[in-house]
Amino acid sequence: MKIVLTGRRRLEIQKNSKSEKSGKGQVRLQVLYCAICRTDAKMWDQGHRDLLLPRVPGHEMAVADSQGKRYVIWPGVSCGTCPHCRTGRENRCEHLQILGFHRDGGFADEIIAPADSLISVPETLDSAISCFAEPMGCIFHALANFPVKKNPRFLIYGGGTMGLLAGLVIHASGGKPMVIEKNKEKTLAAQPFLKATGIACTTNTTENGFDAVINACPDTQAFADGLKKLRKGGHFIFFSGLTKNATIGTDLIDLIHYHEITISGRYGLAPADMQRAVDFIDAHQRILATLVQGIVAPESAPGLLPQVLAGKGFKYILDFTASQIPEQPGQNNQ
Ligand SMILES: [Zn+2]
Ligand SMILES: [Zn+2]
Repeated sequence: MKIVLTGRRRLEIQKNSKSEKSGKGQVRLQVLYCAICRTDAKMWDQGHRDLLLPRVPGHEMAVADSQGKRYVIWPGVSCGTCPHCRTGRENRCEHLQILGFHRDGGFADEIIAPADSLISVPETLDSAISCFAEPMGCIFHALANFPVKKNPRFLIYGGGTMGLLAGLVIHASGGKPMVIEKNKEKTLAAQPFLKATGIACTTNTTENGFDAVINACPDTQAFADGLKKLRKGGHFIFFSGLTKNATIGTDLIDLIHYHEITISGRYGLAPADMQRAVDFIDAHQRILATLVQGIVAPESAPGLLPQVLAGKGFKYILDFTASQIPEQPGQNNQ
């Protein structure tokens, strides 16, 4: 079975087409689990610049090959020859295609993916938790080559899954993260994670002079506040795109000038980031389990997207392990 986005807010459950062959360098894999990302919900609601319809969404998946060996998949398909690919920055590839955007992704019980994009999962790592490898890889990508002093004071805007994952990585590497989340319900839901890690989360702070800020929410106000909360010479990691067509005052842009702030844009992840994420996740499984909102039947995906879009709850993970029984002749999955 596969879940296909056929139009705006239209998600259909369909049978796999038997005719689809895996091409050269491609492998057919069983999808074990695929997490729902807010980007999936956004493209269901409003499309995406990289989306071609009809499309099977999903780019945070755990898979197995015909021998039962488990992997996660770096969701990009890169050319391997452009200057970005040749320097390990495959996420910037001039010809990049993304599973779940340009090609069919993981909301299906099987997927065809480039063999080169597979990253082995350690035996100790739970398959469902391994779905965090993609979002966590984006965090590693965002924080890579971070140029400020050791053990930075870090302000994170947004207490959703991404903000908390960023907090976890910063905390584990000796930094001091503080998460700003305006929604009290969300902060309450994050308590098991916050208690287990000791990471501070608040609706606002009077503290200033942070070494670094990362925005893990599209709020333009958070972007503005973050710039003002930085120390001179501070670093802003521009991680989440901003709400469309919002305006930003030039006084704010001038602040970048007067305070000599460095802004680093970060988008996606390279395979090396995902490999680092897998090792990190393996060592932090119990904490990550507190961010799993539910492991659910794939058929519940259409009903869950509005909640994911509204930022309610943490990670929902679609469980395809039960749907891998061979289909009976004449069975209708529509
Ligand atoms: Zn995602
Ligand atoms: Zn390339």
